[in-house]
Amino acid sequence: MILPGFGVAAQARLAGAHALVVGCGALGCTAIDLLARAGVGTLTLVDRDVVELTNLQRQSLYVDADARAGVPKAEAAKRRVQAIDPALRVHACVEHLSSDNVEEFVNDCEVIIDGLDNYRTRYLLNDAAVKLGKAFVHAGAVAMRGTSMPILAGVAGALGIPRSDAPCLRCVFPEVPAPGEGETCDTAGVFGPAVAMVGAYAAGQAIKLLAGRVDLLDVSFWSMELETNRMSRMSLAGAGRAECPCCGARQFEFLDAETDGRCTVLCGRNAVQVRPAAVAQMDLVRLQMRLASLGTFVMADGLLVGSLAGSMELSVFPDGRAIVRGTTDPMVAQTIYDRCIGQ
Ligand SMILES: [Zn+2]
Repeated sequence: MILPGFGVAAQARLAGAHALVVGCGALGCTAIDLLARAGVGTLTLVDRDVVELTNLQRQSLYVDADARAGVPKAEAAKRRVQAIDPALRVHACVEHLSSDNVEEFVNDCEVIIDGLDNYRTRYLLNDAAVKLGKAFVHAGAVAMRGTSMPILAGVAGALGIPRSDAPCLRCVFPEVPAPGEGETCDTAGVFGPAVAMVGAYAAGQAIKLLAGRVDLLDVSFWSMELETNRMSRMSLAGAGRAECPCCGARQFEFLDAETDGRCTVLCGRNAVQVRPAAVAQMDLVRLQMRLASLGTFVMADGLLVGSLAGSMELSVFPDGRAIVRGTTDPMVAQTIYDRCIGQ
């Protein structure tokens, strides 16, 4: 209340605000905690995963008992938020965000916070935010580095920002990285303080937006890296592209794509096949090196085959297809695919 510009009126705006946090991993945990303590009245938390022991190094809303019981992250996060402030409204959604349900979630909120670990869902949220006119705060972290940027293309008019100074994600990064190209926290590891910094930065941007302090927003591509301790900001002024397929032409390819046909349960085999989001030639030798920290992977008959923790087995084909053995749950298989191969 004492901070200039965050007095009674701003507090009332926060209490009446609704934030959507997609992904309740480390980024999401940090952001959710700060949004709840800032008094953001309604939070919708979406995550398809359950708490595991290895999450506790960085995912600050969860405790040992959550991991032992395998509580869904969205549920565990909701419980924690309600312990912080019982007056807050919290919706926990244990769901895989897809083109089928994303618009429903995005429609109801004022701001979306990216707590994701895969690129494709970010592009899906970018489409939905632009189409439905919502603010979207991107955040991403892996290893000892992270990035954040506000995506204001959908709300530029309402905020009085020129369209050319309010790029969407695709104005800056036109295409999703190819499968197997991006590192994930499971293949590269993650430094707890780095991901907490990025989550806090993104939460700060969302709180400024919701409180009506647009003048304080950092409209830049912000990045930090705790290995060499560098931080940088790249202004987004002029980065909005009129020829952008999403915010320029308003063609929402990711919303229109049939993302849900990617998993096929293989009958009677306790296995699920996952297809890549986009056809790509996969460098299996490189992938083998990246997956070394997860288990023993060997090349066999042109496939990369290995065992993961528990009783899961993963076989990756050169075209990016994979078979996950040890489950018949498409959501579990998709999660393993995203963690190991990316996207
Ligand atoms: Zn754009």
